[in-house]
Amino acid sequence: MKPLSTIAENVKESSTLAMDTLYKKMKADGIDVLGFAAGEPDFPTPDNIKMAGVSAIVNNATKYTPATGILQLKEAICHRLLEDCNVHYEPSQIVVSSGAKHCLYIILRTLIDPGDEVIIPTPAWVSYNEMAQMVGATPVLIPCPEEDHFKLTPEKLEAAITDQTKCILFNNPSNPTGMVYTKEELIVLTDVCVKHDLYIIADEIYYKLLYDGAQITSIASLGEAVKEHTILVNGVSKSYAMTGWRIGYLAADTKVTKVIARYLSHSTGNPSSPAQTASVEALIGTQDTVETMREAFEERRNYMVERMNQMPGISCLKPQGAFYVMMNISKLIGKTMYGQTINNADEFGDLFLKKGLVCIVPCTGFGAPEFLRWSYATSMDNIKRGMDRLEEFLIGAGIE
Ligand code: PMP
Ligand code: GLU
Repeated sequence: MKPLSTIAENVKESSTLAMDTLYKKMKADGIDVLGFAAGEPDFPTPDNIKMAGVSAIVNNATKYTPATGILQLKEAICHRLLEDCNVHYEPSQIVVSSGAKHCLYIILRTLIDPGDEVIIPTPAWVSYNEMAQMVGATPVLIPCPEEDHFKLTPEKLEAAITDQTKCILFNNPSNPTGMVYTKEELIVLTDVCVKHDLYIIADEIYYKLLYDGAQITSIASLGEAVKEHTILVNGVSKSYAMTGWRIGYLAADTKVTKVIARYLSHSTGNPSSPAQTASVEALIGTQDTVETMREAFEERRNYMVERMNQMPGISCLKPQGAFYVMMNISKLIGKTMYGQTINNADEFGDLFLKKGLVCIVPCTGFGAPEFLRWSYATSMDNIKRGMDRLEEFLIGAGIE
């Protein structure tokens, strides 16, 4: 048999999905394990959105639609982007696809020729690096340490740019760090991108999940030059607890959306039609449910961060957005716990799962091998039990 594609063979499994699958399997096997791996809201999709999906099916909105989505949904997206992000787009500048993940992939497919470089500030969501490689790009990772609040600086960005740099993959608020860039920080970073004529892929999927009164500055709102260079990515998964409906969208100049539309017309075709109708309701219906979920996340974050920072050997920053906490285990590297030397986050994660019966995501694949990510998109009760187990696990291993 001839070999499979080398590019495809080299793609690594998504560690977030792998950990979540492992957790679900252990649970199904009757093991009393607690899961903090999945980055998805534990809330059900709000009723008004569910009912819109049901009536779409009943009313036969179950056929092919244009490959880039129905006009009504594009209009709803334009409305929401104007209201929430202060950016004006026309429906012709919107592409709807099967999740923000697919939007990111299709954008990279559209921008990249072999050998192009894609800048990724790390820690970054595990799929960025893999996707860049899947389209034949060279990922250029810029480590952004905890002491900089995991944020990219203009100096580091400038130093990473070469003649081959095509774009930057920029996530704000960030998965996994939960950090949120201020408007001033974004202005200096986007100035560098515009100066070097880079595309800015701005993944703002967590834009509604902000805490302590933090405000989102959408990158596309920073003036015409920045907007021209920006391909905005968002979706309904996180804001409306709609992860399984698979609707994401992008907004960009029509030069970009036209090419993406052609590509989609030969690959996925349209995203699910009933899910598109449900998403219209999500975007134009009441936004009160989003606020209720956001408040719950904020309370859970406060509890988790406070508990974690009282425990021996570990620490975390207080995130201002998304629903993740980055647990720093650098003080535990080289220590022996339960007869095993801990060399990195993967080993800690394995041991914690086996001995502590808690499933979290080691951030090696996110470019942060001394960190593990906890999702607090789960009930307060689970979080309390998870923190208790963490404390017992550390104290039981003699960590002081
Ligand atoms: N971007 C980031 C940073 C994410 O964490 C996720 C979560 N899966 C996505 C994009 C994709 O979301 P979805 O495909 O569910 O719209
Ligand atoms: N984005 C979420 C996470 O980081 C969902 C899983 C995934 O698609 O990676 O956990």
